[in-house]
Formats: sequence, C-alpha cells, structure tokens
Amino acid sequence: SFENVGFIGLGNMGSRMANNLLKAGYKMTVHDVNCNVMKKYSDMGVSTKQTPFEVAEASDVVITMLPSSSHVLNVYNGPDGLLQGGDLLTPQLFIDSSTIDPQTSRKLAVSVSNCILKEKKENWENPVMLDAPVSGGVVAAEAGSLTFMVGGSEDVYLAAKSLLLSMGKNAIFCGGPGNGSVAKICNNLAMAISMLGLSEALALGQSLGITASTLTKIFNSSSARCWSSDSYNPVPGVMQGVPSSRNYSGGFASKLMAKDLNLAAASAEEVGQRCPLTFLAQNIYTEICKDGHETEDFSCVFQHYYSGKSE
Ligand code: NAD
Repeated sequence: SFENVGFIGLGNMGSRMANNLLKAGYKMTVHDVNCNVMKKYSDMGVSTKQTPFEVAEASDVVITMLPSSSHVLNVYNGPDGLLQGGDLLTPQLFIDSSTIDPQTSRKLAVSVSNCILKEKKENWENPVMLDAPVSGGVVAAEAGSLTFMVGGSEDVYLAAKSLLLSMGKNAIFCGGPGNGSVAKICNNLAMAISMLGLSEALALGQSLGITASTLTKIFNSSSARCWSSDSYNPVPGVMQGVPSSRNYSGGFASKLMAKDLNLAAASAEEVGQRCPLTFLAQNIYTEICKDGHETEDFSCVFQHYYSGKSE
C-alpha cells in the first residue's frame, strides 16, 4: 500500500486530482514550476519541494500530470529529475497521467525499470511505471469521477487501483506499457472525427433547410447518434449546459484537441498505419487554432469551420 504520494504538475487537472488524494488521507508532497501554485499548497499545510527529485525522496509513489511529452521527459530525466541517481530510488511506483505519445511512455517505463530501489520491498526488486492518462476533463477531476486508462503490468495496476480510484470512478487495464497512452489518443481521435462528421452533417442540413434541433432529434433516434450529437451538441441553442450554449467556453480547448491529434498523427506515421481522417482532422484543428479559437471548446469547429449559422 502507498502512504506517501508525490504529485508533480498541479494545473487545471492535477490540482483537482491532488485535492482528492488529500481528502482521501494520503500524505502528499508536491511540486510545480509555478510558484503561485506552490504557495497555495504550502499555505494549505502540504509539503512542497523545489525539484522532482526531492519529491521522489519523500514518496512511495509519484504521480505526474504535465502538459506534454517534453515536460514529462524533463521531469523524469532532467537535472534534479525523478530518476536522478537511478541506482537508488525511493519510490516503488511512478504513474504518469499526462496525455503523451505511447513511444515516450514505453521508453520511460524501461528507464524506470532499469533503476534500483533504495529499500527492496517484498516481490518488488525494481521501481515500476504505469501510464494512466485520464478521460473526463476538469469537472470529472474535481468530482473524482475520472476514467483512468492504464498501461503496464497487471499486478502493478491492481496494486495501484485503490489509489487511482481516489481520483476517479473507473480504472481500465489496457495491457502492457504505453497502452494507456494508446487508448487515450485513440479515444480522442475518434471523438474529434465524430465531432467533425456531425458538424458537417448539421451544417449541410441547415443549408438545405432543416433546423439543427430537428436534425439532432432525428440523429439521436437514428443511426447517426453519437456522444457529440446527444451529449455535447456543437450547435448553439440545441442543448443547454454544453460549451456551445456558452460561446464555446469552459470545455476541452481546441489547442488540446490539436495536441492530441498531433500525437495520433505522429504515432500513425511511426507504425505506417493509414489514417487519412486523422491527418484531415489535425489540419482542421490546427487551422482553427491559427484563426484565434485555440482556447474555445473543440465543438467550436461547427461555428468556425462549417457554418456561421446557429438556431
Ligand atoms: P495545465 O497546463 O493546466 O497544468 C500543467 C501544470 O504542469 C501547470 O501547473 C504547470 O505549471 C506544470 N508544469 C509544467 N512544466 C512543469 C515542470 N517541468 N515541472 C513541474 N511542473 C510543471 O494542464 P492540464 O489541463 O492540467 O492538463 C494536464 C494533462 O492532462 C495534459 O497532458 C492534458 O492533455 C491532459 N488532459 C487534460 C484534460 C483537460 O480537460 N484539461 C482532460 C484530460 C487530459
């Protein structure tokens, strides 16, 4: 069992996840490059450290929730990084919940397993790593209802499950190292493409004379029904309580979607998988960001790419 939990990356997602771990009673040590964030935690009485390595020294398990692969690599392998002095590490387990490319997750898992534990635990000779990206966004992070997609060894996943369930409602084992990252980028790829397809169909329908509300009703009781149509409709006025009903604010930013599509496109090239729609979706979201909508929710693709119309 893990008592001392280190947490690095206390941004939109990480701060909420760390708060749920505090509520669950874990002893926390945290680090972020943002001094204001660090001050907030030290004011709350949480132990804060200046470097990832100092967090590692105080922790049985370290969780990272950082923007992208380069930040994760820096926190693990950089000077004063988590794996500094890799022949004698304190944490048994490293969990990275950032959305990063699967190849980086796999390389890190190898680097971690090549290190040695300062104090050997029963059945646990070397430190181990799980990639455990999340689905759910800040609302689910706050409510502790995230879904974790976990790659690594199954025994380690089972050992970490109760820790993960302090921050989420689901943890799904995806297979070997990197498979959590694979699941995450593929989920977001499918979500991006279904949002684009739905937006295109709704825009065409409107141009041909049917309202988006009527067309959505048809889709939701027909074969075009999808999460984008029935839970996250992109046309202003069709649904309440979704980003399209509040000028596309407060959802999943287009720039984050563009980042995830870049990961999917790069991974597709690496393995030589044909993914024509991935590249098209990547271009569309890159364009939307360039046009100044990068902080708007990704459903703004309806408004800014397909149509100027709303209900
Ligand atoms: P964020 O930018 O709000 O937070 C990142 C935090 O990491 C910041 O506080 C930043 O100061 C800190 N940081 C950056 N570099 C650092 C370093 N070298 N050392 C220590 N701290 C450092 O990002 P976020 O929205 O919390 O997202 C984090 C990850 O979760 C991303 O990979 C994102 O794709 C993924 N994600 C986000 C959402 C969402 O809705 N926001 C949903 C699912 C997954």
